[in-house]
Amino acid sequence: MHQPSLPHLLAEDPDLAGLIEAEAQRQHDKIRLIASENYVSPAVLEATGSVLTNKYSEGYAGRRYYEGQQNVDPIELLAIERARSVFGVEHANVQPYSGSPANLAVYLAFLEPGDKVMGLSLPMGGHLTHGWSVSATGKWFTPVRYGVRADTGRVDMDEVRDLALRERPKLIWCGGTAIPRTIDFPAFAEIAREAGAVLAADIAHIAGLIAGGAHPSPVGHAEVISTTTHKTLRGPRGAMVMSTAEHAARIDKAVFPGLQGGPHDHTTAAIAVALKEAARPDFRAYAAQIVANARALAEALVERGFDLVSGGTDNHLILIDLTGRGVPGKPAAQALDRAGIELNHNTVPFDPRKPFDPSGLRLGTAAITTRGLTEEHMPRVAAWIDEVVRAAAKRDESVLARVAGEVRDLLAAYPMPGWAPAS
Ligand SMILES: *Cc1c(COP(=O)(O)O)cnc(C)c1O
Repeated sequence: MHQPSLPHLLAEDPDLAGLIEAEAQRQHDKIRLIASENYVSPAVLEATGSVLTNKYSEGYAGRRYYEGQQNVDPIELLAIERARSVFGVEHANVQPYSGSPANLAVYLAFLEPGDKVMGLSLPMGGHLTHGWSVSATGKWFTPVRYGVRADTGRVDMDEVRDLALRERPKLIWCGGTAIPRTIDFPAFAEIAREAGAVLAADIAHIAGLIAGGAHPSPVGHAEVISTTTHKTLRGPRGAMVMSTAEHAARIDKAVFPGLQGGPHDHTTAAIAVALKEAARPDFRAYAAQIVANARALAEALVERGFDLVSGGTDNHLILIDLTGRGVPGKPAAQALDRAGIELNHNTVPFDPRKPFDPSGLRLGTAAITTRGLTEEHMPRVAAWIDEVVRAAAKRDESVLARVAGEVRDLLAAYPMPGWAPAS
């Protein structure tokens, strides 16, 4: 049963309760390597499922448009104070509904429609909201895109500088969704200064590593920092925009009333809980273990002949280029999922294949580290991935069920926060 169990939901809507229970079991039984996912704590789950979902509180603490904010104001102020303390920033807005709206708020704060924005190209590891063509940010603004070097798989800072000085964007994004290497915030800051652009660091993927001291911080380099709260930071689905004091008012105005109505107070509370957890010494150990696991997994994959973009990883994320393995990303990811190993297919830099069936696989170690797996388990995980990718190349289904059983057996010893199977 769910912990806590869901008796009311079961009585009211057994179909839905059954689906949630099945999802809990699925999360329990699989090695979850989707780099943007995690398992939140029972405390974060409780805050997310609380009566705060009943409240409306447009505005900011002390300046609301609805009455009855006696408890919501201190909740939001607590979340803000904890964000300022964990990240060492002057200002934090904790109201964005998710990462994409948070980034849109950054555009609204600094750009007019048609203005130039520079970001890492999506197929090279950037995010849709950094000016990709199908995103509103690529349609309503004028995108300039940088990439990674073909020989190193790393962002080419010379290219970034040349482009920035030639194109003079108003806003430069650093960060992305598939970057396995440390982001050089000081170098980006220098380029932005030279080009007269605002530098925004999108730390959605690495926020937990930064909070835990396992990745350098953009504070002091990027004037604006956006992040989701649900990836390595291990909080609820939500986001924050942080900034220097100088930009505080324009960021707040852009989030509300610029883009959003009432904040999701249950999410705000859960963000506050997650930030309290992130401030504890054991979170530093967690962040370090995420990186140690990724490094160990990358090494074990390389030993098995896998080609990794940039040759390895500095953070939680690994990008495998399957070119030469006889199977593209999508069928490989589907076979791995049937074998109890959940990840996503991904483009690799200079991918010759189409985005819905690209050449790569993206893996992250945040969730399995929460489960308690360590470096000693990574050679086994790499061996399973190798075996299943070989099986997928031969369209051999027989090994998948066996691996799924082995995965379940391993994970049975590593409890999942918030849920346990019926005993
Ligand atoms: C996940 C992510 C986002 C968007 O977050 P959503 O909550 O999915 O909208 C934005 N930027 C980066 C770099 C991300 O990884």
